[in-house]
Amino acid sequence: MISRRNLLAASAMGAAMVSSVKAASFGNPDEPPQGAINAKGLGNLSDPGPQSQVLGGQFPSAQSPPATDIGGMPTPWASFNNAPKRIQNGGWARQVTVADFAISKEISGVNMRLTAGGIRELHWHQAAEWAIMTYGTCRVTVLDAQGRPYVADVREGDLWYFPPGAPHSLQGLGPDGCEFVICFDDGHADEFNTLLVTDWFAHTPPEVLAKNFGVPAETFAKIPLHNLWIFQGTLPGDLITDRAAVQKDAPVPTHPFIFPLGSSRPFKSSDTGSIQVADSSNFKVSTAVSAALVTVRPGGIREMHWHPNADEWQYYIKGKARMTVFDTGPNALTTDFNAGDIGYVRRNLGHYVENVGDTDMQFIGVFRAPHYEEVSLSNWLTHTPPKLVAQHLNVDEGTIASWPDYVPGVMPKR
Ligand code: MN
Ligand code: MN
Repeated sequence: MISRRNLLAASAMGAAMVSSVKAASFGNPDEPPQGAINAKGLGNLSDPGPQSQVLGGQFPSAQSPPATDIGGMPTPWASFNNAPKRIQNGGWARQVTVADFAISKEISGVNMRLTAGGIRELHWHQAAEWAIMTYGTCRVTVLDAQGRPYVADVREGDLWYFPPGAPHSLQGLGPDGCEFVICFDDGHADEFNTLLVTDWFAHTPPEVLAKNFGVPAETFAKIPLHNLWIFQGTLPGDLITDRAAVQKDAPVPTHPFIFPLGSSRPFKSSDTGSIQVADSSNFKVSTAVSAALVTVRPGGIREMHWHPNADEWQYYIKGKARMTVFDTGPNALTTDFNAGDIGYVRRNLGHYVENVGDTDMQFIGVFRAPHYEEVSLSNWLTHTPPKLVAQHLNVDEGTIASWPDYVPGVMPKR
C-alpha cells in the first residue's frame, strides 16, 4: 500500500504529477499552498545560496517540510551539541536555559561530565533538581529539609531528585566517572550560578565562622578564596562507610532520592517500543517533576498525543527522530532530532515522534508536574460514539472499531 507520504514525495519529483494529488483525499498541502508539492519548477526546490551542508543535513524536515506542515511556530529545537562547555579540572558542564531557548519556560537543562573522583561541589539552589544518568556512575549526597541525610550511587538509567533548597553534591566514580543531564523546574535556573559552600565560607568573617562552628578562627586559615564549582577530588570509599559516616543520630529518609528508571517495568509496551514512567506515584520524592523514557524501534512512532498538565522538555539520548507539533491556527511544524538535542512541546499541543533511523531511538520527556499525564488521540476517538467520529472524519465505523483503544504508547502494534 502506498503511503500518503510516499505519494507526496513522488509527486514532488515531477510537476506533472502534482495535480493528481487532491487535498480532499490526502491531507491539505495546497490550501494555502505550502510545501515542495506546490513547487512548479525544479529551480523552486534548489538552494544555491551559501550554506553548511553538515548543519543543514541534520534538518531534512526544515529543508523540505512535509506538505502537511503549515504556518510558523517557535522552534521546538535546541541542543547541548553546540552549547559552550565550562571546563574545569574534574569535569565540565553546559546548559540550555530559557535565555537560549525561548519557549523552554518551565525547565532548563544541564549536561555535565565528572571524571573519576571529579566533584561538583557542595551547593544548593532555588529550583528542584531532577537528573538522569546517561553514562558511568556517580555518588550523590543530599540533606533534606527534615534533616535526613542520604548518600547513594547512581548508574546509567537511574534518576535523582533533590527538592528546592536541599543541599547536595555529586562525585564521579571509577573507572571513568560519569555523564548526566539535569533538569531544573524553572527555565531561568542557571547551573553556573548556584549557592556554593566555598563562596559562603570565603565571604563570611572568620570570627563569625569561629562562633558558628565553635572552633578557633585559625581553623579557616586555608579555605579557598574562590569557589571550586567542579574540581578533581579523590575517589570516595565504599558506600556503606559513607552512609554510616553521615547518619549519626539523624532521621532516615522515608523514600530514596534516586530511582532506577532504565530498569523499571514499562508503563506502556508494544512490539515497536516502550514507555517507562517515573513520577511521584513510584518515585515518591519527585513531587515537582515527572518523566517518561520513550524507546521506539525502527519504523515505530510515539503515537499522536498531548499532555494536559505540563510542557514536555525532551532530551534525545540515541537514534534519529522527527517530531511534528500541532497547534491552533492551524499550525504544524516538523523538526528533526539527533542524540544530544533538546525538544520542547507546550502543554496540550498535539505531537508525535517518529523513529526515522535504522536503530532504536530513545528520548526522555520531562514535565514540571507531580504526575505524568497524557491524552491519546486514538484512545479518545475509540471512546467516543463511533457514529459521531465517523461523521467528522468520513471514515466508516468498522474501520474506527479497528483503531487501538488501549493507549498503545508506541505504534504500530505489529
Ligand atoms: Mn545542583
Ligand atoms: Mn509527549
